[in-house]
Amino acid sequence: MTNHVSWERAIVFVDMDAFFASIEQHDNPDLRGKPIGITNGEIGTCFITCSYEARKHGVRTGMRINQARQLCPDIIQVPARPYRYAQVSTEIMSELKLVTPDIEVFSVDEAFLDVTRCQKIYQSPIEAGRLAKQLVYDISGLTCSVGISSDKTTAKHAAKKAKPNGLFTVLPWETRDYLSVLPVTELSGIATGVGNYLNERGVYVCGDMQHLPIGELASRFGNLGRRIWYMAQGQDPEPVKQNVAAPKSIGHGKVMPPNTSSLTAVKMYLHHMAEKVAARLRKHQLEAQTYFIGVRIKDGWITQKIQAHIATNDGQQIKRLVNTFLRDIWQGQGCSQVQITALDPKDQGYQLSLFEYHDTQREQINLVMDKINLRYGEFVLAPANLLHRSQMPNVIAPAWKPFGHRKTV
Ligand SMILES: [Mg+2]
Repeated sequence: MTNHVSWERAIVFVDMDAFFASIEQHDNPDLRGKPIGITNGEIGTCFITCSYEARKHGVRTGMRINQARQLCPDIIQVPARPYRYAQVSTEIMSELKLVTPDIEVFSVDEAFLDVTRCQKIYQSPIEAGRLAKQLVYDISGLTCSVGISSDKTTAKHAAKKAKPNGLFTVLPWETRDYLSVLPVTELSGIATGVGNYLNERGVYVCGDMQHLPIGELASRFGNLGRRIWYMAQGQDPEPVKQNVAAPKSIGHGKVMPPNTSSLTAVKMYLHHMAEKVAARLRKHQLEAQTYFIGVRIKDGWITQKIQAHIATNDGQQIKRLVNTFLRDIWQGQGCSQVQITALDPKDQGYQLSLFEYHDTQREQINLVMDKINLRYGEFVLAPANLLHRSQMPNVIAPAWKPFGHRKTV
């Protein structure tokens, strides 16, 4: 049936091609074949991404609009539609689960598929990669690039090579040679700091790594150092994983200009905190039913512990509690600080019962929004009412300890 030599590990990496821009071109035929750049709303000053037609002129992610126009005068500015992107991403990711349930949604437009255990179903990992590519196209009409290898780092690099709309395989027994000539900084996960450290020790290309004792990297960077040493040699040990570690705290606060008493302003600060707390909860797959909400006034804190109908990690729900707080508790006093803390967070779904309603679509979209923000910066995409939120720094260690509740999680 098959003459495929089974790989010890088989990883398929899927990376959508110019994802946001491709969605815009797909949804609006007038934009097809044209250089377009996506901005955050109408007011964005940078392109968060752009189409291949724009890339040909040298336009890059994060480039200022003015600079991009010099390179590509015809570039069309298109405001981002985060919910649409989240929707398409959700569809694509659920389709990819048909290839294997061992999937790590790495970002809004990237996923690792561990097909090690499907090698009897597909004739080879390459076939699994082709299927992934086909399924993505069938469900979304969009193209992706696929990298296939025996570890995550090599697969990710292979996908880069396949851009756009390609498929590139590095066979397990060739990973070492393949990587050996690449600058170490080309590997995903090796930041400038680590890169400089390696360069100073004579490690420029991955092949140089074998001359550096692993212990030296380990004593400087711990487990990351150890991982990097293996990564450079085509043996990245990191598994395809779905879970993240639990957080240490789930509250957010912020200082405001002294004596802020406008309802709009106070509400905006609190709503911002609500979205932050919600995002943190979701990041750790937690939800909470009870929230402490507080504002600091001249004489101290006004606080209230408010319960949602059911445990939630949705910003909209927490903002509803904020509105209740502002209506019933706050009397319009001037505020200097705001705080929201989720109390006693539990694993998501823990309190789910037959009689409780969970908005699955919303949960999915929230999840994807988190991925987008993780990649493009916090609140690159946010509900419209937060677009003018404060740029003041977050309170890292708020002095406020609501009712001395135990520091959970
Ligand atoms: Mg991409």
